[in-house]
Amino acid sequence: MNIVITGGGWAGCSAAYAARKQGANVVLLERTDLLLGTGLVGGIMRNNGRFTATEEMIAMGGGDIFQVIDENCRHTNISFPGHEHASLYDIAKTPAAITNFLKGMGVEIRLQERVVKAQVTEGVIESIETAGGEVFKGDAFIDTTGTAGPMNNCSKYGNGCAMCVLRCPSFGGRVSLAGLCGIPEKTGRKENGSVGAMSGSCKLYKESLAPEIVELLNQKGVAVIPLPKELIENHLSVKACQQYALKEFAENIILLDTGHAKLMTPFYTLKKLHKIPGFENARYEDPYAGGKGNSMRYFDMSPRSNTLKVEGAVNLFCAGEKAGLLVGHTEAIVTGVLAGYNSVRHLQNKPLLELSRKTAIGEAIAYVNEEMQKTEGMGKKYTFSGSVLFDRMKELGLYETDVAKIQSTIKDEGLMNIFAS
Ligand SMILES: Cc1cc2nc3c(=O)[nH]c(=O)nc-3n(C[C@H](O)[C@H](O)[C@H](O)COP(=O)(O)OP(=O)(O)OC[C@H]3O[C@@H](n4cnc5c(N)ncnc54)[C@H](O)[C@@H]3O)c2cc1C
Repeated sequence: MNIVITGGGWAGCSAAYAARKQGANVVLLERTDLLLGTGLVGGIMRNNGRFTATEEMIAMGGGDIFQVIDENCRHTNISFPGHEHASLYDIAKTPAAITNFLKGMGVEIRLQERVVKAQVTEGVIESIETAGGEVFKGDAFIDTTGTAGPMNNCSKYGNGCAMCVLRCPSFGGRVSLAGLCGIPEKTGRKENGSVGAMSGSCKLYKESLAPEIVELLNQKGVAVIPLPKELIENHLSVKACQQYALKEFAENIILLDTGHAKLMTPFYTLKKLHKIPGFENARYEDPYAGGKGNSMRYFDMSPRSNTLKVEGAVNLFCAGEKAGLLVGHTEAIVTGVLAGYNSVRHLQNKPLLELSRKTAIGEAIAYVNEEMQKTEGMGKKYTFSGSVLFDRMKELGLYETDVAKIQSTIKDEGLMNIFAS
């Protein structure tokens, strides 16, 4: 069983892990020189309903990636406006830890391999080809190329290329594998109907901030600094991360310590930032032009079933942002595990797994799919950590922080250790 995964963000890494755990030979192709994709500049885990989803996946036996992340956190169990019991992973240590973990399992990782062609016969992908001309044959394929950029989308629908961590000018832009197979894909909209959504946070060099802010971040993980009225910039309506579209995120500078200082706004004019006490020397680490804009996301999402099989292809699965308007590392990881597992089931001619809607993960996968059939649903983003999906989790009684209760639900649904080898 040969499974080829395109895109080495959190979804691709998790799909690789789950497929390898089921005994497949796995090749993971990533266009840049590092794994984790947008996760290279993320870090927030376990906030609000993400805690439940994480513990569900651990109980289902597919939680090793979460355990590696837990071992590489700078802060655990912290709160910031609207968010409880969050962890912050170290953005320097985590990519290497995950790379070593996957290599240790026997996943073949190929960096700087950008997939640009697919050979498809009657809906069956036979092989894919990279920009360098190398051909990878496989029995099943997983598209985890994400939804960010490329530069023309950031220019057309955002404030131009902000020079983000995806580094399109250096490695070439994102290319959708499902798109290469001729599958019509969907693009998200903002509530005002405009296309795409802007990434919701930037990173500042900690060493460019005042020592007292750095100390607060190192000790507590969070710094909330009220803004004088004249310096407020409200970019909440363009944000991809609607869980942070709360007035506190416009009225304050909210910083989180992920190694750099994660600034919880899509962009903020540098000239204004320099007027805030303690930020006189502030410099952006990601995106480099964070004073002007950020990456645009939610282009080219694949039509898929709740088993994460892509509609319109026989042997293609998807996960992460490709699988819908799902925001977040946790969301990418849990869908990645399901896609990796089901790609192997497909090759074994076994029925594909659809997770029970009595679990937060199963409900999220099914609910997003339903909502994406509606015009107004395409204007929203879905995450366990806030906004519409977290509200729904609470309404349905799916938000739980008692690990024993989460395990009991997973057991009752017959899903205990289902992803374990
Ligand atoms: C600035 C920023 C901060 C964020 N912070 C957080 C946070 O703190 N917590 C959180 O939960 N979420 C955060 N998110 C959201 C989260 O990072 C994403 O929703 C999630 O990680 C998406 O994972 P993914 O694997 O689906 O996609 P991506 O992370 O976009 O990964 C896709 C990968 O595919 C590769 N690729 C694309 N095309 C090709 C091709 N043709 N061939 C080979 N490779 C290809 C890309 O290079 C990339 O590595 C943040 C997002 C951004 C942009």
